[in-house]
Amino acid sequence: MERTNTFTVNDHPSLRKLADNCARLWNELNFERRQAYIRYKKFSWHPKHLYEKYAPIIGSATAQQIINKNNEAWRSFLALKKLEMKGRLPPYIAKISMPRYWKRSGRRKLRIIIRNDCYKFDEEYIYLPKGLKLKYKGELKWHGRKGRLEIIYDDTDKVWRGFMTVKIEKPPIRGGNKPLYIDLGVINLATVWFEGLRQPIAYSGRTLLADWWYWTRKIAKEQSRLAKVNKRKTSRGLRKLYRIRLRKFRHAVNAIIKTIVENVYVLGISKIVIGKIKDIRNNNHSSTKINAIINNFWSFNYIIRRIKEKAEEYGIEVIEESEYETSSTCLRCRSKNVTNKGRLFKCYKCGLEAHRDAVGVLNIARLYGGEVNRVVAHPLLLRWNGMMWEPKRVMNNRPMRTLEARISRL
Ligand SMILES: [Zn+2]
Repeated sequence: MERTNTFTVNDHPSLRKLADNCARLWNELNFERRQAYIRYKKFSWHPKHLYEKYAPIIGSATAQQIINKNNEAWRSFLALKKLEMKGRLPPYIAKISMPRYWKRSGRRKLRIIIRNDCYKFDEEYIYLPKGLKLKYKGELKWHGRKGRLEIIYDDTDKVWRGFMTVKIEKPPIRGGNKPLYIDLGVINLATVWFEGLRQPIAYSGRTLLADWWYWTRKIAKEQSRLAKVNKRKTSRGLRKLYRIRLRKFRHAVNAIIKTIVENVYVLGISKIVIGKIKDIRNNNHSSTKINAIINNFWSFNYIIRRIKEKAEEYGIEVIEESEYETSSTCLRCRSKNVTNKGRLFKCYKCGLEAHRDAVGVLNIARLYGGEVNRVVAHPLLLRWNGMMWEPKRVMNNRPMRTLEARISRL
């Protein structure tokens, strides 16, 4: 499996010059290909003339790497084009476009690609082609067979970033067959249960949603200010705001995933079953805010991808399950004569009252033969305090037993 080491690299005029020439090669090649594609729908995958022009300037290995990367970009564009013609484009791709230029606001994007055998590290320095020796900062977390290195200038943070791919061995899949179940949502980002747990655990999204909206409002304000003041659509400040919003969300999500996967590992659980929100967009939420978030595609894809990556590191299998009956079926009597008001689930047939997300996750578990009969169908709620996930404080410090006695059991 592949992982990426990231770090920052000190600035140097030669690094800028090298990156600028890499971008020139990319842009020239891409220009030729766009023209050829528009006119003839085809072009050569081996642009000999450009290779010969740039190899002496940026080195033959780097020139070839840039050409390879451009080939990859065009291959995936052509593959999508084919799907589009067959009418089989994934629904989340609205429009496909030809590979872009390495450019932003009229300036070339500074970017270098270095072949796996053309760079090395010691404790303090990174050694690059053309005799460049530069200080770097950051821990090289992954060890294994080194792959391609990309060094990109981040003009929002004004810093060079290195991205080094590393191939590492996959740990063997573990034995045992009791899974941990996850139901994903928006109000509760994740509700989790495994056999042996008396009560599901829910990671509340409320503080995160509030934070997300706080930054969204700031973004909107900055956008209208830019439009008024200098008729611009973007700025460094605006990009920073987008980045903060994304980072804050991802930080909290990664904290959930880390806790879950590490616990799964310690408990000896071998797989994770994720309830896939197949029709989340049709899942009529009363709140327009939540609908807005869902339509912005929130980040379910990101959450699922991160769970898979993290689980893979521990040799834990991940299954996506879309056929479960969520909270539209009663957990106790299987009746569909139920209602969901906000987070409250109620069954008209047997009278069960429970928490909607708990019913969701326990219904997935049931599908896999999980013994859910004596589980409390109200989750233990965890909140994000900006640093970590912690239980919602129990009023008057009453012992848990009293609290549990008050909530309905299955
Ligand atoms: Zn029922």
